[in-house]
Amino acid sequence: MNQNIVACQRTVEINSPVILWDAKGGLDCPNRRGRSACTQHNSTLNNKPSQHPVEYSLSNPDKAYDELKNSVYQLIIHYDACYSSHHCHKIMKESSFKGSHFYLDLDGTLFQTCDLYWKTNTAPADDRNGNERAVHVEMANLSWEALKLESEFHKVSSDQYRKKKDRWELSLSKQWKKKLRTPNFRAYAARGYGKRGYFSRRINGKIVRMWDFTNEQYRALINLCFGLNKLLPKIRLQVPYDKTKRRTPLDRINNYSTFEGILGHAHVQKGEKDDISCKYDPGSAFNWPHLRRSLYRKRPDSVILG
Ligand SMILES: [Zn+2]
Repeated sequence: MNQNIVACQRTVEINSPVILWDAKGGLDCPNRRGRSACTQHNSTLNNKPSQHPVEYSLSNPDKAYDELKNSVYQLIIHYDACYSSHHCHKIMKESSFKGSHFYLDLDGTLFQTCDLYWKTNTAPADDRNGNERAVHVEMANLSWEALKLESEFHKVSSDQYRKKKDRWELSLSKQWKKKLRTPNFRAYAARGYGKRGYFSRRINGKIVRMWDFTNEQYRALINLCFGLNKLLPKIRLQVPYDKTKRRTPLDRINNYSTFEGILGHAHVQKGEKDDISCKYDPGSAFNWPHLRRSLYRKRPDSVILG
């Protein structure tokens, strides 16, 4: 099983299963673009997707890697508002511009959909330059679409999580269940909130109600963060943090365009301009303290020297 991620044909082992776009069972990004700071490709690919996969080649992969290392410094975390990564990919394919470098499925399987050299249009951010400086991961989670009361797109007939003993399980139809890499995987929310199970917090002005991601997703996400930091070191192992309130803020942060590290979509985009929408992902259930602690704990420079 592959455990490498890829940028400019270089690979880094991340200790988590990764299905690459060109492997069996891989999911290919339908809308790749060129980054404007990188010069090792045909620049007409920067603003429109090409019809010919062969055009997505790099003239000098070493030079491409140097350019990429200097221009990309953010990993943006999303929820996909879908049942699973295959569901998410279906929706990306139906769009003429959407894409994401990674999908993170319920069972912790990562799909890398193209070489990180390319740009995907996942989060323009409030300054419209968000995609130039970032790589993206879409984590499978229905968010408020799981709630009968709030579901807009999927119009579900009942809440999509059920309580099993003391855990909350996502009800996954056969259609999506059979496409998961792990046979018979059962998707439990890592944590439940009180009796109702779902979390509820205000993000960029909206109360977001959603069940948590799975433990398998958190493990894979942490492995992805370390792998990306090795491959693209400007993506530092840090998340936004308010030292006075001693927590990660949930709203758009002021230095969103210069922050080097790992952020949520909501941290970079609250829709200040007409054609940019307000974002709330990865949402109220996302466990920022857990991610933050994991990034710090494993840091080599946190070793106490005698
Ligand atoms: Zn998003």
